[in-house]
Amino acid sequence: MKIILLGAPGSGKGTLAKKISKDFDIPQISTGDLFRAIVKDDSPLGRQVKEIMESGSLVPDEVTIEIVKKRINESDCKNGFILDGFPRTVAQGEALEKITQIDSVILVELPFETIIERLSSRRTCPDCGEIFNTNDYASANCSKCGATLIQRDDDKPETIKHRLEVYENNTAPLINFYSARLYKVSSDKTPEDTYRPVKTFLESLEAKK
Ligand SMILES: [Zn+2]
Repeated sequence: MKIILLGAPGSGKGTLAKKISKDFDIPQISTGDLFRAIVKDDSPLGRQVKEIMESGSLVPDEVTIEIVKKRINESDCKNGFILDGFPRTVAQGEALEKITQIDSVILVELPFETIIERLSSRRTCPDCGEIFNTNDYASANCSKCGATLIQRDDDKPETIKHRLEVYENNTAPLINFYSARLYKVSSDKTPEDTYRPVKTFLESLEAKK
């Protein structure tokens, strides 16, 4: 089963991907992870990606596609995979169509106000990395190591708003592109509530294959 997951940062997409990956025994593939892995590789492609990333540029589509293609041809992808964070643009989606047939595209939906509220209540421990939520944790210090908690720049409302705008501009055309294969799920309740209908849907998809 070949799946693409679409969803805004903070929508709970990553949590959903992990549940699907575990139950359906297919790997979760994120291009961020792939880039990080490949730069450790002393290969021509690895060196090329390293140079691009160090220059602060975006990895071009043709390079990204090459890396994704290589990854989905690995043996653990024989039953399928979940693409998380790729494609980001219609051009990437079109290129992906040429190398594989995607069965379904799952769109995780959550109102932007909810995302902003959720992310901006997040506090991080700068020393041990533990994450807290001000809604259920009132202290200004880490419960594990005592360090003073901080709000990461990524979790500040202005930064979140900007990231959501970028997401919306890129994803709206993709939603159109995949309209015939799109399955929408709302993540406004618990992660389990989000996963339940998705699981049923994927099982029915699997039964048809
Ligand atoms: Zn800590």
